[in-house]
Amino acid sequence: MEHAEILICGGGIIGLTLARELVSRGADNILILEKEEEIGRHASGRNSGVLHAGIYYPAGSLKARLCLRGNRLMKAYCLSRGLPLQETGKVVVARHEGELPVLHKLHATASGNGATVELIDERQLDACEPLARTHQMALRSADTAIVDPKAILRCLVHDLLETGRVRLLTGTAFIGLKQTRTAETSRGPVRFRSFINAAGAYSDTIAHCFGLARQFRLIPFKGTYRELRSGKASLVKGNIYPVPDLRNPFLGVHFTRSIHDHVYVGPTAIPAFGRENYRLLEKLTGESLRILFDDARLFFLNQQFRTVALTEPRKYLARYFFEDAKSLVKALSPDDLGPCEKVGIRPQLVDWEKKELVMDFLVLKEQESLHILNAISPAFTSSMAFAEYVASEYLGTPLSS
Ligand SMILES: Cc1cc2nc3c(=O)[nH]c(=O)nc-3n(C[C@H](O)[C@H](O)[C@H](O)COP(=O)(O)OP(=O)(O)OC[C@H]3O[C@@H](n4cnc5c(N)ncnc54)[C@H](O)[C@@H]3O)c2cc1C
Repeated sequence: MEHAEILICGGGIIGLTLARELVSRGADNILILEKEEEIGRHASGRNSGVLHAGIYYPAGSLKARLCLRGNRLMKAYCLSRGLPLQETGKVVVARHEGELPVLHKLHATASGNGATVELIDERQLDACEPLARTHQMALRSADTAIVDPKAILRCLVHDLLETGRVRLLTGTAFIGLKQTRTAETSRGPVRFRSFINAAGAYSDTIAHCFGLARQFRLIPFKGTYRELRSGKASLVKGNIYPVPDLRNPFLGVHFTRSIHDHVYVGPTAIPAFGRENYRLLEKLTGESLRILFDDARLFFLNQQFRTVALTEPRKYLARYFFEDAKSLVKALSPDDLGPCEKVGIRPQLVDWEKKELVMDFLVLKEQESLHILNAISPAFTSSMAFAEYVASEYLGTPLSS
């Protein structure tokens, strides 16, 4: 029977950076299970590729503590490994006067989190983002950067395998707990001393297998993009974001120049009917009805969810998507936005006892297992700092002591 000291379920950015951190602290015989044949098939390979800079997150939250340090660690990693990185910066623009107080609030929050931000006027905005428009002032973040998420994942795997202390089994799904410290997988049982759940969109169901996190369930939100195809694309230098609704976990449709010189507009945050329901009818499972029912319950019970559910789905329609995008820039015509294959799913954790969306990362630990729940944005940015935090706070003593 396979045996691992530490069995990690999930080969996304969270599983890989945790393995890297544990190796740096002397761990050996780490086995990573990844159900897909290749890495990066889900959130870690489908995101916007933006290294965020700690602008939005309330003081004291894990996101506030880990985002900026994660940004710096990831930049250093990209530089040291010769991976693509562009320090483009980002602007947050106000669409009307009513958003100015939020812009000031963001400036205060970001400064408190240690981010390098400044409020700029329309002339300064014009100099750094010629296509962006704002009402009186905008917020500029210097620390925001863009990277190639799939290249980072591939490089991490290469580095991990090279240590000889980590194995990666792709095409191998964790199915359940066979008995204490023995996992049932699609390729047979695996004995382990410690188990780490980094399964992204399935992290709730896996925690449930260990008898944990019963009050938590993930609901999926689909993020679709369009591509800025006309000559206007050359006018987007970095990232143009709207002032967000701070009560929501999503940042709103934005313009992002990718490392491969595409300009993406999106993502939306539309309730989806499956954890991997990327296309209309793809991967609809028996669970889809339950998700639909959960969405309906939340709609009635939670104001935050109701706002998202009322505003986001209409962005499926090109006209509404266009209106959102147009509000951030000086000139845009519907023909400037072309279709785009890029789509991702953001699994959002809900606390069903409180009927609330969980806004921060969440870590749960019991004797032999540790569970990363709600690794939502900016978890890609934060991942290396998050791994440091988890290793220090939760794995300072061996999981199986
Ligand atoms: C549209 C979109 C845009 C985003 N933009 C950004 C951004 O610009 N910047 C940023 O910082 N963050 C962004 N994020 C968030 C970021 O991508 C995620 O927070 C992060 O990738 C989560 O990583 P993960 O490892 O937890 O999940 P995943 O990448 O989903 O990895 C989990 C892995 O576990 C595997 N798995 C699941 N169940 C099992 C099982 N039973 N057995 C074996 N393997 C299993 C899955 O196949 C998957 O590969 C975005 C997310 C989306 C969807």
